[in-house]
Amino acid sequence: MLQVSRRILQDMTTSAPERPPATAAPDVQAVGTELAKRFPRPSRSPAAVIERRMMRRLVDDPELRAALFRFVDVRPACTTREDVARHLAELLADAAGSPTAQRATKLVNHARRPAALAAATGVEHMAHRFIIGADARDALPELERLWRRGVAATVDLLGEATVTEAEADRYAARCEDVLRTLSAAAAARDWPCADVNLSVKVSALTPELRPNAPRRGADGARERLRHLLRVARELGAHLHIDMESFDTREAVTALTLQLLSEPEFAAGPSAGIVLQAYLVESGEHLDELLAWAAEHPREHPLTIRLVKGAYWDNEVVQAAQHGWEPPVFTDRAACDRQFEALSRRLLDSVPLVRVAIASHNLRSIAHAAAYADALGLDERALEFQVLRGLGDETEAAIAATGRRVRTYCPVGDLVAGMAYLVRRLLENTSNDSFLAAHAAGADLTTLLEAP
Ligand SMILES: Cc1cc2nc3c(=O)[nH]c(=O)nc-3n(C[C@H](O)[C@H](O)[C@H](O)COP(=O)(O)OP(=O)(O)OC[C@H]3O[C@@H](n4cnc5c(N)ncnc54)[C@H](O)[C@@H]3O)c2cc1C
Repeated sequence: MLQVSRRILQDMTTSAPERPPATAAPDVQAVGTELAKRFPRPSRSPAAVIERRMMRRLVDDPELRAALFRFVDVRPACTTREDVARHLAELLADAAGSPTAQRATKLVNHARRPAALAAATGVEHMAHRFIIGADARDALPELERLWRRGVAATVDLLGEATVTEAEADRYAARCEDVLRTLSAAAAARDWPCADVNLSVKVSALTPELRPNAPRRGADGARERLRHLLRVARELGAHLHIDMESFDTREAVTALTLQLLSEPEFAAGPSAGIVLQAYLVESGEHLDELLAWAAEHPREHPLTIRLVKGAYWDNEVVQAAQHGWEPPVFTDRAACDRQFEALSRRLLDSVPLVRVAIASHNLRSIAHAAAYADALGLDERALEFQVLRGLGDETEAAIAATGRRVRTYCPVGDLVAGMAYLVRRLLENTSNDSFLAAHAAGADLTTLLEAP
């Protein structure tokens, strides 16, 4: 059975189609409209209604957003749910002028009572939707549900910041446990999407990955990452290296490409890296990845996951503190145009690389899909990726059109997960976010306009 999932992975990675010449101009509006039609109706369950209301309030209420930003900073100091609730209550009380914060304070205070803690509070309930389980075993039922619906998954292990070697060992051991547990589960099932795919963060594999000594960090993570690559190869699994803040990008890229260049990894595992379009120099970063791929033919071509980038505020603040030019675009449309330009270059480079377009923005998705269609690419050459909880409707719409979609599924304890949840909420309720514009009812033609 393990051979089944191996065969599927190989099918996804090596049988690159012969590409006929482009036959038609990409019709982004048509593809986007088709996708939009497939969006499921928003759930009317009380939890979903409350969640949508909370998202709308986050968009409209800067004080509440500021309180939650501060919460992300103090969260590592919280060790229990009670701590989390207390900190949230204090920070929300600070946002005293905010009516939403006052209501939320009541909610959180209520949650401090032990009986209420067990019940889902607003935040905890939402965290459950974003985090599919405490560990790999706990996550299996939800992964199975996705697999059965024809949706693939990549698992992301949430954790504490890694500040000791023991924590880095623990993270690596949890990664290995996910790979082995999911491989055993996938081997027992014959669903086409039951492949094993794990996303890892280099910063969690070493306590040394710091802005002022990125090379030392790469050295610190090397043995743990090499071990995980060996385990992934043994199991026929895919290992994807996430990208983090700009100051670690070079070290993470160098480490990943150095390890994948080692002869023992030429035949596997299937592996991937992330390209962040919000970086002004992301075109050069893609040059570097394509040059590497051309020099290092692999049985499983390198997968490049194109994202916009999750650390925009952080990059802008850091640069301002140092008096530097920010490394990121500060014009939202410029970032989206870069995303589209990189999408086209990536799709033009198939089969040298495999392409994953990770976005919830219907225009960005439709643009890549329309371009792939115009190139006549086989649907196996491209997959879309979304974040669990935020991209559920997008995931359903993409799957309904028969295109490949993979959902990024965080796994870990709820306390660690709350900071993740808050970060994702803040990112996607900013005024600049596609999801916020969509939730506010912007019309489809506007949403699908070229950036
Ligand atoms: C499956 C998956 C995996 C991911 N993995 C990673 C990863 O490894 N590393 C990583 O960094 N991110 C990762 N992300 C997050 C991603 O980078 C985006 O933050 C997120 O998807 C929102 O982008 P969007 O295209 O969905 O939404 P959109 O609303 O279209 O775009 C929002 C993005 O635009 C950018 N932006 C916001 N304001 C401005 C501005 N004023 N000027 C210029 N640009 C601006 C920011 O990048 C912001 O996140 C991942 C996302 C997904 C779906």
